[in-house]
Amino acid sequence: MTLGILGGGQLARMLCLDARRMGVKTVVWSGTATAEPTEGVADQVIKKSFDDELAREEFCHKVDFATVEFENIPQETLCKVEEVVGLHPSAESIAISQHRSREKSFLREHGIPCAPFALVNSLEELEAAYAELGPVAVLKTAAFGYDGKGQVKITASEQVEAAWHSVQGTPSVLEGFVDFQCEISALVARGKRGDMRIFPLAENEHRHHILDLSIVPARVSSTSAKEAEQIATRLAEKLDYRGLLAVEFFVDKSGGVLVNEMAPRPHNSGHFTMNACVTSQFEQQLRAVCGLPLGSTELLGESVMLNLLGDMWNPDLNRAEILATEGAKLHLYGKQDASGRRKLGHVNLIGGDSPEARARSLKKKLLP
Ligand code: AMP
Repeated sequence: MTLGILGGGQLARMLCLDARRMGVKTVVWSGTATAEPTEGVADQVIKKSFDDELAREEFCHKVDFATVEFENIPQETLCKVEEVVGLHPSAESIAISQHRSREKSFLREHGIPCAPFALVNSLEELEAAYAELGPVAVLKTAAFGYDGKGQVKITASEQVEAAWHSVQGTPSVLEGFVDFQCEISALVARGKRGDMRIFPLAENEHRHHILDLSIVPARVSSTSAKEAEQIATRLAEKLDYRGLLAVEFFVDKSGGVLVNEMAPRPHNSGHFTMNACVTSQFEQQLRAVCGLPLGSTELLGESVMLNLLGDMWNPDLNRAEILATEGAKLHLYGKQDASGRRKLGHVNLIGGDSPEARARSLKKKLLP
């Protein structure tokens, strides 16, 4: 059995590691000339662009099942792979979640709560939308946005024009700012026959728009938790989804749950599952994509995941420090370039009295 993965980043790496443990071969098509995280981990890495036809033929010829590890892959590539080998999740599900305006329209169509929004294609439309959704709103480009990229907050009407220029006049979505109590995420897997398993909810904190900590289980009311779980499973059904779906939510001050965005793949906020659940999110993705039975999502104990970004990781200094922390499990992604705030790895803290206290104290030690 060979699993093909489009994309060669850390999510592909962790999927390959679980596949190898379970005797499933992997072929990664990175779409780029380098794919460090998957080198030496995948059985084969095809380092060619996503529009290289020969690369596509080779990939399709070698794999029995195909999936993605990130959503920004050309639609044409996704559709062609889908036609030849099948693709899980489907090209259509990926198309919806790779594009904010399609995603928002899908949510609206199915009556799923999300932040108030308007699709904007010109400065005039942005001005009209801001008048309705302001005074605090967030402008987000429709395509290629993640970790706060392609986003600008607007707090006064004088900033509208500059905001439009900063997204270079590309089709965008304006969202009303949500004064949230916290952010949470749900991960649901849907299998070949529509069977579903959901992981415990994670409560997420961000630093510079990038995920910093995930605390599990999320500290929200059982009503909010139930609502988030119902929305996530409903989305998976409505999309006729197969694979792992991540859904991020805002929980507003009255406990209401609003979808922020979806990701058609394993998610950074699900890394805790690698040490804290019976089945990891990567194993679950593999099971769903390859048509195997889904695994137990039982939580073995409270857990916290701390992301290691470029500004807080020095291999010579930090390894011993991290491993000296009780219940710390270190995961590194094999990236050579540690510049800026690249995601270089994460630490899962498990067991003991307060994994959160240990995570916060470790973070303090690691930050310069
Ligand atoms: P995103 O890339 O859309 O997930 O946005 C990154 C982060 O920006 C989110 O996790 C929130 O912390 C913040 N954010 C995005 N949109 C909104 C919004 N409409 N209201 C409040 N905060 C937001």
